[in-house]
Amino acid sequence: MTGMSKETKVDPLITKRLCEIVGDKNATDMKHVRYAYSYDLSFVKPKLPDYVVMPTEVEQIQEVMKFANEEKIPVIPYTAGTNIGGLCIPEQGGILLDLKRMNKIIRIDEESHYAILEPGVSHAQFASALAKYNLRWSWPVGPPSASTSSNAICHGIGGLSGRYGLNSEEITSMEVVLPTGELVRVGSCAIQEDAWHSCLPLPRVDGLFTGWLGTTGVITKIGLRVHPTPPILKVFTTSADTLGDMGAYLRNLGNYEICDDLTGVSWWLSQVPIPYPYKPKPEEAPEWISFATTFSWTEKEKEAREEIWKMVMDEEIKKGSSLKETVYPEEALKARTQLPSQIVGSTKNYTKQAGAGISWPGTFTPLNKWEPVYDEWKKILIDRNLSPAVRVTNYRGVHYGMLRAMIPFPKKEPASVENARQAIVDCLKVDLDNGGIPYKPPVDFGIEINKRAQQGYVELLKKIKLMLDPNDIMNTDKLAL
Ligand SMILES: Cc1cc2nc3c(=O)[nH]c(=O)nc-3n(C[C@H](O)[C@H](O)[C@H](O)COP(=O)(O)OP(=O)(O)OC[C@H]3O[C@@H](n4cnc5c(N)ncnc54)[C@H](O)[C@@H]3O)c2cc1C
Repeated sequence: MTGMSKETKVDPLITKRLCEIVGDKNATDMKHVRYAYSYDLSFVKPKLPDYVVMPTEVEQIQEVMKFANEEKIPVIPYTAGTNIGGLCIPEQGGILLDLKRMNKIIRIDEESHYAILEPGVSHAQFASALAKYNLRWSWPVGPPSASTSSNAICHGIGGLSGRYGLNSEEITSMEVVLPTGELVRVGSCAIQEDAWHSCLPLPRVDGLFTGWLGTTGVITKIGLRVHPTPPILKVFTTSADTLGDMGAYLRNLGNYEICDDLTGVSWWLSQVPIPYPYKPKPEEAPEWISFATTFSWTEKEKEAREEIWKMVMDEEIKKGSSLKETVYPEEALKARTQLPSQIVGSTKNYTKQAGAGISWPGTFTPLNKWEPVYDEWKKILIDRNLSPAVRVTNYRGVHYGMLRAMIPFPKKEPASVENARQAIVDCLKVDLDNGGIPYKPPVDFGIEINKRAQQGYVELLKKIKLMLDPNDIMNTDKLAL
């Protein structure tokens, strides 16, 4: 791997102790195994972990954490490593804790509409289990092999985010091993062992483990809300020449709360694969395409949704918008409605033209800033010969949402990786300066966030981190504090 950083020292006595805890087959310091965990799809520089451990029981995780805490060895929780931000790359070496083998679906409560999962349960596994009950979850347009719980704790978004909000808002309870090895529960299951239905009305301490990038504890069980699947799918697809027109339409339609997903994509992102290097858009093609996904229980309900959609279209067109009803490219539409996606989610369609690398400036940005930020991003990206493959998505009931670019690049060429990194960080700075907030931030982003953060906020984060992780062993350095 190009640009691999210097290796830290492997200690056979540590390997021996880890083998005693999880069994000889579940812990190793063999280099070819460690190598597999040293990189991801992103621009983040590869680094080798010193040990790879695959626990199967919660008690084993507790023992590993106690030992690591005593010995001050960094621990990196990992499920599939698809976060595209280098979040599982071990900045300081240490123990890579791969939780894939803890993949039991503990419960699907068909009546109360929640499920309890172990961290290794993948989107694909959860989707097929839920389908038996005609239930669904907000699957991301990401790899089906990724972990549902990791997506939820990282504030992931999916095909129901227009309706229900972020996936972290669906968390109902959690069991967590702290960096010092104690087991804690948060939410209703903390009060009654078998009650996994809600985090509220208790103080929301689940927030100590969401958005923290695996730096405050290891989630060993998670409760998630699930939802019934109405049978009738209707997707409204439109095009517009500018993000101003597209954003106005998405905001207007969002007011009526009739859509599960409200997403616009630039022409470059609607191409499968994303063009690399940059290729100009054909002049006659509209720059923005959107899909508004609705699900209904009856034909009449579908018609009512259609009536509202037509009303919004008329209102926007009367204002002089370039908005038009359009046909969304079939492959791309499937990728966004048949979730978990086998098309975009396979990642090959995103990365195959460029050569295995992909990263993003991924942000939550106020809707009225989408267009000015996008205009700047376009300049930055095209200057660096990269496609402005941008997505915007409304979140439930509020006028902010995802603004993100997907940037493929050839992972084998250090100069191209650096070109993508610089472009992405430059895009991110523009967004932060317009009130946006990056999600699942790589360390490069963390630095930019913290530079702008209120001092009291940074000090509070430091205090919480020190309280939970006194020896700073959990995913060390990822918060760039
Ligand atoms: C092409 C593509 C498209 C994507 N589209 C989307 C999308 O639309 N929406 C979206 O939300 N995401 C998307 N993603 C991102 C990604 O798939 C998700 O973030 C994914 O759900 C993370 O799961 P993972 O198993 O890969 O987590 P990992 O990458 O293994 O881990 C993510 C983070 O969680 C921490 N962590 C993992 N397990 C635990 C645990 N048990 N306890 C504490 N911390 C833990 C890790 O340390 C790391 O910081 C996309 C990715 C790709 C490649």
